[in-house]
Amino acid sequence: MLQQDDVRSAESTDARRVEELRSQGVALVAGSVTDLAGVTRAKYVPVRRVGAFERSGMGVSPSWSVFCVDSGIAFTSEIGVAGDLRIRIDGDDLRLIEDGVAWAPGDLHDQHGRPAPLCVRSLLAGVERRAEARGLRVRLGAELECTMLAPDGGPASAEPWSPYGIRTSLDRSAFLVDLMAAAEKAGLAVEQLHTEYGHDQLEMSLAPAGAVETADAVILARIVIGRAAARQGMKISFSPVPFADAAGNGAHLHLSLADDAGPLLSGGDGPYGIRPDGGAAIAGVLETLPELIGVYAGSVLSPQRLKPGNWAGAAACWGLENREAAVRFVAATPGNPYGANAELKLVDPSANPYLAAAAFLGSALRGIDRGLALPPEVPEDPSRSGATPPPLPTGQQAAIEAMQGSAAAAELLTTPVIEGLAAVRRHEVATYGDRPPAEITQALRLAWSC
Ligand code: GLU
Ligand code: MG
Repeated sequence: MLQQDDVRSAESTDARRVEELRSQGVALVAGSVTDLAGVTRAKYVPVRRVGAFERSGMGVSPSWSVFCVDSGIAFTSEIGVAGDLRIRIDGDDLRLIEDGVAWAPGDLHDQHGRPAPLCVRSLLAGVERRAEARGLRVRLGAELECTMLAPDGGPASAEPWSPYGIRTSLDRSAFLVDLMAAAEKAGLAVEQLHTEYGHDQLEMSLAPAGAVETADAVILARIVIGRAAARQGMKISFSPVPFADAAGNGAHLHLSLADDAGPLLSGGDGPYGIRPDGGAAIAGVLETLPELIGVYAGSVLSPQRLKPGNWAGAAACWGLENREAAVRFVAATPGNPYGANAELKLVDPSANPYLAAAAFLGSALRGIDRGLALPPEVPEDPSRSGATPPPLPTGQQAAIEAMQGSAAAAELLTTPVIEGLAAVRRHEVATYGDRPPAEITQALRLAWSC
């Protein structure tokens, strides 16, 4: 219960904040949560209600956690039509995402102010706190690949594409310049921007930061890219496979850990300087891949991307700068200002970024806890070198089953989260499983757009 003095002080903080936001032209405050299907949803309040959004939160039904990639709702035995949750935002960290609109990521709470069991942002915060409690500093970087589209959701351009081309980027300089300015205004730590390999494909990379901070930044980046595109009369797809048989979009994550003695992935006696705990962290990530692929790349479209030859990291192994390996190791060199890190390549943008980060970091910590040994490196494309990494489940159904049957998945991400995720993914199997790829890619092209 708020005491009288608390109420007065909260009101004066609100008044100050509202005044400041109004002076920046803000009329509307958005708070979003990203659901288990990887879709970001939002509620809005007029700027004067920013304090209420922070303290009481705005009401949403528990089914927000099991909304599907389409309009389906994957009710479970636990989640039905009754009950209520609250989205709460951090009102001190609002970002300008569009003229008049400020945004903050939200946590899902129950009516009593406790984090809801399906609040994946709180889950990631818990994993990050666990790392810190054992003396580890976590740094997570993110790459966002996406595809520019015409307003009708079809291809944005018809002329030949040149991957990473100076022409294909300069042809879109009005968009890219506007995008950079908007990113700056939103306080997004953009590292790099380029047109990618796939037709009309774009990539933005973000500077490493804390795990929750980076997952928040991924959502902010999706919003900022989407809004800049809209201003240029385009749409943006964050589908893993926006067009059948075309290049896929990845959502690669880069993890580095350090303890008091320094980084775990450099400065030691292992390959490329990897220290024993660093090797154990990579081993932990690889060991749980078959069970967590449903978290990293679990949508109905994910298997279409996750194939050898796509640089999507479809092989359950690690290797230095190996783009076919699920874990591409990046060594500490002068060419790499942030030091060594492990890049998890098989993640795609249909994954909830909070959940993918929690699985990645959690499985790395689990590997350290169990003192796992770093498996031998696979230094080349396994299909050329003849290496035979452990098989990964093939197909969405198999990925869901592996995840639901996994003690490690339940330990790292909790049973309610795994059950909720399995429910929304099973809806995809039932709805889209039998349809031809071109039909599914079209139906879900905008599902993960912000
Ligand atoms: N587009 C590829 C993917 O789906 C990644 C290409 C790259 O290595 O940047 O993950
Ligand atoms: Mg890329």
